[in-house]
Amino acid sequence: MNYLSTREKDLRMSAAQAIVKGLAPDGGLLTPAVLPRLPASAMETMKDMSYQQRVVYMLNSFLDGFSSSELTAYASSAYGGQKFSHPDVAPVHKLDHGAYCLELWHGPTCAFKDMALQMLPHLLSASLNKCDEKKTACILVATSGDTGKAALEGFRDVDKTKILVFYPKDGVSDIQELQMVTQEGGNVGVCAVTGNFDDAQTGVKRIFSSQGMAVELEERGYFLSSANSINWGRVLPQIVYYASAYCDLLKKGEVDRGQEINICVPTGNFGNILAAYYAREMGVPIKKLICASNQNNVLTDFINTGIYDRNRTFYNTISPSMDILISSNLERMLFELSGRDDKLVRDYMAQLGEHGSYRVGTAIRSKLQQLFYAGCCDDRQTMETIAKMWKEQEYLIDPHTAVAFHVLEAYRADTGDETPAVVVSTASPFKFCSSVLTALGVREQRSGVDILEQLAEITGVPVPAPLARLKNRHRRFTQVVEKDDMASPVLDMLK
Ligand SMILES: *Cc1c(COP(=O)(O)O)cnc(C)c1O
Repeated sequence: MNYLSTREKDLRMSAAQAIVKGLAPDGGLLTPAVLPRLPASAMETMKDMSYQQRVVYMLNSFLDGFSSSELTAYASSAYGGQKFSHPDVAPVHKLDHGAYCLELWHGPTCAFKDMALQMLPHLLSASLNKCDEKKTACILVATSGDTGKAALEGFRDVDKTKILVFYPKDGVSDIQELQMVTQEGGNVGVCAVTGNFDDAQTGVKRIFSSQGMAVELEERGYFLSSANSINWGRVLPQIVYYASAYCDLLKKGEVDRGQEINICVPTGNFGNILAAYYAREMGVPIKKLICASNQNNVLTDFINTGIYDRNRTFYNTISPSMDILISSNLERMLFELSGRDDKLVRDYMAQLGEHGSYRVGTAIRSKLQQLFYAGCCDDRQTMETIAKMWKEQEYLIDPHTAVAFHVLEAYRADTGDETPAVVVSTASPFKFCSSVLTALGVREQRSGVDILEQLAEITGVPVPAPLARLKNRHRRFTQVVEKDDMASPVLDMLK
């Protein structure tokens, strides 16, 4: 399987090159030259497999140059052993009214980013070898919370990689900070930046574009790389859990062979729901893709009107991992919906860069609306949904997942479509204790890590082990730098 750019169809790269590069030289996103189709019997075949075996089955046709035994080894280090606290890795939880919750937060950091970031480092490390790259990859990440910790856990002690994460000193929760500064591993670093997330992000971008840094690192045997969600190596592992969820429903007799389901995804950068689209294209029986946004509803408007317009107020919500105005992975969707018209994609992206907006033609808009339903949810509705799910079904969900449940309900009310629906749950409620407790009507809240036990005591739901362990952990990383001084911790780490 070769890879091409969404802005230049004639470009060709191997899978390993696509993963090493991350982004095409023209700024486009690297995408498979053809989407493989699963055989008609695939769901039956995969039904009795472990999650790790399903990974190998699904990834094989995308990764020429990777043997099945290599992929088996990566799947087992990524998802096997004690890495995930649930034997199914991505279990499906049955709820009332033909709804199911796909829990993607049983990994080491309790958020769905683990699903991709446990796998990407293995794919990257192997790809470096296949491309005969002698230098070590230095992964730089600016994080507003979830991604940094998931990347640290994923890259920890992976061959030919080092990772340094920058987070805004006052821009992450106590628990998120503690998760990062207690990180273990011989190839990791964590550094706070005075300022907000944008300052950290801008600082990282500046390091990436500095010629001086590139030369300096090259001399030391390193090159800079990123782990962001547009890397194909992050999208690919996400396709697996949609097929896996379907197999589980089939296995439990919840759906008949070939029966369609709907998928509802709380969406930010459009990576997760894009993976659901790819699963559908490959042959997983999915009818509608339901795109759920919080108050930053740029995607809701886009799907409903065909106009993408980032010129709007940015809101800080209680589902912060979806506080995004530019959904980068949407570019891959435009590429497919336009019949792979690279020139058109280039044109839309140029308009987005210049004016912050573009309007797609009617053909693309109608395909978009056939495939997707879009809705959004404000913080008050998010809180109400958390409370309602707990009261009516004794099921505890985090704010991101609540956004999705709210939008599923709106979809059903709107369309009368009662197709069995899988709602994607992207974080453990314990990662967002304060919002969840507030939703449950608890005003007096404990501080720091003690809030974890408070939520557990009130609900009877146990604290996930990786978070419970934080309490006695040693704070290993204490460095704080000014935003203009972010190059020095990089150079210190790569001495
Ligand atoms: C990253 C994230 C999302 C958004 O996923 P995208 O792939 O960016 O659409 C949703 N929920 C949580 C908890 C996340 O960490």
